[in-house]
Amino acid sequence: MGRRKLVVGNWKMNGMRSHLAEVEAIGRIAAERPVVEVGLCVPATLIMAAAERKGGAFIGAQDCHMNASGAHTGCLSAQMLAEAGAEYIIVGHSERREAQGESDADVAAKAAAARAAGLKVILCVGESLDVRDAGNAEAVVSAQLLASLPEGAAADWLAIAYEPIWAIGTGRIPTMEAVASMHAALRAALASRIGADEAQKMRILYGGSMSGDNAADLMAIADVDGGLVGGASLTAEKFAPVIAAA
Ligand code: PEP
Repeated sequence: MGRRKLVVGNWKMNGMRSHLAEVEAIGRIAAERPVVEVGLCVPATLIMAAAERKGGAFIGAQDCHMNASGAHTGCLSAQMLAEAGAEYIIVGHSERREAQGESDADVAAKAAAARAAGLKVILCVGESLDVRDAGNAEAVVSAQLLASLPEGAAADWLAIAYEPIWAIGTGRIPTMEAVASMHAALRAALASRIGADEAQKMRILYGGSMSGDNAADLMAIADVDGGLVGGASLTAEKFAPVIAAA
């Protein structure tokens, strides 16, 4: 199928200058494994310094404002993040959808703003435990994906991250069958919007308690094209086996 695996660390609100040695070490591991695209989405305060130490990895951001500039105290535009050295950006992470009340339309607007600034985008979707238990996960997440997808979505600048909310930071993951079924459903939803050929090219990552213990099994699933990794990306020691598994 020819989709290059994409493994991205999401450092969330973690990381000080003292952690730049981990960026350097992860950059070295990435350089040794060019078959996999490896990146780190660090706090905005570290983007510039991390970009100078990225080695074979790319540096990304974790959010942006949907406008290019203006009276938005405390916010950062995609242009600012790109100028600081970000190449990718995460939009629509469930922590922001929940805590900042970001809607699907907000996420689509942020993705479009990021694209306009030349950033590549990782767009997150995922269901709550209630939705999973009610048996509606695939329908709900497919609808969320279609409502969050920006105009002109294409595989050369957009990847999807399926992150069940209940799996993030909990050590729990869905069954391999559930992951396979969800990723197939999301690819079918993409095909309905952007066409089957483009949908086949688009990478769909799994995220939620991915670690060295489960990464090989998860990434062996046909429609799983990599991972968005939180806790296990914070050190080179923990991230190395995930990168090796891809
Ligand atoms: C995340 O928040 O994107 C994530 C996947 O976190 P963790 O790997 O820690 O579950």
